[in-house]
Amino acid sequence: MNYGLRRLYPMLENISKLNIVRIGSDITFGSLKEIGTKILDASKGIIEQFKVSHHDTPLIDSVDAYLLTMILNEEFGGHVLGITDADLKTQDEDEFYNCVIGGKNPQNNVAVVSTKKLSPPKFESDRDYDLFISRTLKVSLHEIGHNLGLTDHASYKKAHDGSLCPMSKGEVNKFGFQGYVRAIIDGRGSSFCDDCNFFLEQIYGY
Ligand SMILES: [Zn+2]
Ligand SMILES: [Zn+2]
Repeated sequence: MNYGLRRLYPMLENISKLNIVRIGSDITFGSLKEIGTKILDASKGIIEQFKVSHHDTPLIDSVDAYLLTMILNEEFGGHVLGITDADLKTQDEDEFYNCVIGGKNPQNNVAVVSTKKLSPPKFESDRDYDLFISRTLKVSLHEIGHNLGLTDHASYKKAHDGSLCPMSKGEVNKFGFQGYVRAIIDGRGSSFCDDCNFFLEQIYGY
């Protein structure tokens, strides 16, 4: 890691070990391992290892996103990606913005992802499940990117394979929730764009 820059990003330490915590049961452990492996690939070795854990909670429809990051930070600590079946709520008073697909707590290295709105309308075949897992991966990569210090950027930035960078973001307002999932999330690939990779290289010097 570049020491001059690291002073600016004290939260970026201790992120080399990722704990993927499942809250719920919609995703199999096998799929979580697949997601973990792809996160390791995209991080270019900054994240060196991951493990998968399960967090037992009563079945709930929705959970406050911030509260969930605090609970996971207390129980697991370190670099955590929580993946829940429940809706993630925020304190935003506008109903349009108080439900999020993913988020991270800026005070620690805990990110959370909700799979609730990522399922295709019909969930009948293996292909539907694969799409569901691929969406979960892309939202997870976005939040992990934030944990690595990356910021949101416009959706036109593409990675080498022609797909959108996982950090790309559009306006939910413009697409609606389902439209956003199809246009932006499905459009993302699983590797970061040149700008994001340049940033990571400067910070971590891989
Ligand atoms: Zn973001
Ligand atoms: Zn990017």
